Amino acid sequence: MNKITMSTPLVEMDGDEMTRILWQMIKDELLFPFVDLKTEYYDLGLEERNRTNDQVTVDSANATKKYGVAVKCATITPNAARMTEYDLKEMWKSPNGTIRAMLDGTVFRAPIVVKGIEPNVKTWKKPITIARHAYGDVYKATEMKIPAAGKAELVYTAADGTETRELIHEFKGAGVIQGQHNLCDSIESFAHSCFKYALDTKQDLWFATKDTISKKYDHTFKDIFQEIFDREYKDAFDKAGITYFYTLIDDAVARVMKSEGGYIWACKNYDGDVMSDMISSAFGSLAMMTSVLVSPNGYYEYEAAHGTVQRHYYKHLKGEETSTNSVATIFAWTGALRKRGELDGNSDLMRFADDLEQACIDTIESGKMTKDLALITTIENPTVLNSRDFILAIREKLEQNYR
Ligand code: NAD
Repeated sequence: MNKITMSTPLVEMDGDEMTRILWQMIKDELLFPFVDLKTEYYDLGLEERNRTNDQVTVDSANATKKYGVAVKCATITPNAARMTEYDLKEMWKSPNGTIRAMLDGTVFRAPIVVKGIEPNVKTWKKPITIARHAYGDVYKATEMKIPAAGKAELVYTAADGTETRELIHEFKGAGVIQGQHNLCDSIESFAHSCFKYALDTKQDLWFATKDTISKKYDHTFKDIFQEIFDREYKDAFDKAGITYFYTLIDDAVARVMKSEGGYIWACKNYDGDVMSDMISSAFGSLAMMTSVLVSPNGYYEYEAAHGTVQRHYYKHLKGEETSTNSVATIFAWTGALRKRGELDGNSDLMRFADDLEQACIDTIESGKMTKDLALITTIENPTVLNSRDFILAIREKLEQNYR
């Protein structure tokens, strides 16, 4: 069998712990035998980040800007315990945060739907993709406790010194206040990423805020989305047969619960934080979620939505058997390979990505799965496989489908 060739490399960002072990197994068993894999390799494992003073993370993000498509393994975000464990020079920042800031992207997360892992919401038949705005609002808010009676005001001082004031509240006693902000640039990038991703994936886009109550703050989000849509995307949406739909957040939540799924739900920062956890737990598990960072400039970084599965890694180091689900990491690779294929006009590579995803789905639907899925499946007497055997079972399906 001839291996599929690639004309442009993927930016490969290796990671930590159990997902690093899976990463190598996926390459050895599911990619190298079928694809003449071209990647530009960056080791984002914590040891290398520490050795390079985190320069490797910056370099990998720059490479993503150069080539356009990256695939990333889960990485450790250091905390106090990791400082000692890895003898770190500094508490390096989250690589995802650094990359997101450099690419100015929006993260899209969607469940991988298979028969036998049924969503808790019975009407949901297709995935619901959450797009979370990752800047500002309550996450960058300034807060104050008001101890006693007094006047609280919002004050904006322009560059020329002119002041604009709005009364927040005339306090009669103790209370609390909070100042939030957002940036029009950031909201515009968010809107572009959402419209682009909707066109890419041919799905309707929903967006919701509370503009009836927040007549300036939330209304600005609504207006920016509408202006950008009308000016730059309406015709393309019409052509693609998809729609942009704006509604109030409470109405959106009610509609989502009664919908079939199959659309992108763009959320403000806090709504996205809450709703993505609701969607992932209602659909099954974090190990069955895809995640892609899409920049308004058209750069894509694919990853799994979960972390490095630390507990399994420690078992692995002790020589004990693990049953870690590799589906989300495999889908990070297929997402990146498909996008690379699309950009390079390489239909063989795109078809391979489809086949590999189908092989994962077929494997689970045939009753072979990892322990996390066996605990929640509706399939009777599932076969629980260890980390390696699950990947080998997928390879067997891939070889059947592929030839
Ligand atoms: P985690 O996602 O690794 O694990 C959370 C829970 O889900 C655990 O009980 C784990 O056993 C289970 N789980 C997750 N993925 C699984 C899989 N593929 N198969 C089977 N079970 C799975 O998150 P955590 O334990 O909070 O964090 C571990 C490390 O991962 C931390 O150092 C954290 O900084 C890092 N992290 C990285 C990312 C990322 O790179 N995108 C995201 C989250 C956490």
